[in-house]
Amino acid sequence: MTMEPPPPLQVSPPTLAHVRSLKALDPELAYLALLTRRGLKPVSRWEKPLAESGLVLLGRMGLIACPIPRTVKTGRQVVETVFGISSAWVRLYERRFAGQPVDKSSATVRVEGFLFGYPPCCVEQYVRHPYAAGDLPEEDRRVLFHWPCRDCQPTSLLLPVYRQVWAVVESC
Ligand SMILES: [Zn+2]
Repeated sequence: MTMEPPPPLQVSPPTLAHVRSLKALDPELAYLALLTRRGLKPVSRWEKPLAESGLVLLGRMGLIACPIPRTVKTGRQVVETVFGISSAWVRLYERRFAGQPVDKSSATVRVEGFLFGYPPCCVEQYVRHPYAAGDLPEEDRRVLFHWPCRDCQPTSLLLPVYRQVWAVVESC
């Protein structure tokens, strides 16, 4: 199945300015923020605390951003930053994971995949075979946050729009 690539994304100058400022903090954070702002991911997780200035930038982009305390194996507390366009989705993440240890169980992977907007088929494949190499070229793989399953139809639908967002972040 081949589809026409979508036209370049039109992003308003104020949003572009925020993306640029986030990119100065970290390019991947800027990319996640714009994907989420576009509604392509219900929730995104930045696996680090974010300074107030970063939280303010996410807020100015129209995102609800929330620091989430977690613990790691050693018992040390870590802080993640979770954001989304709907507070209801961010609260779901908070309810499930705030104060909880970081883990990679199948149950966690499924909930995370659901909240992060990953195709269910890819999540199931990941549960069975984590980090299995799919059939996508590296230039496609790098714009995704999930591990695509083979011949994945939902991923082929997502890829062109993810690439559009990637191109905006790359060029600003
Ligand atoms: Zn898939």
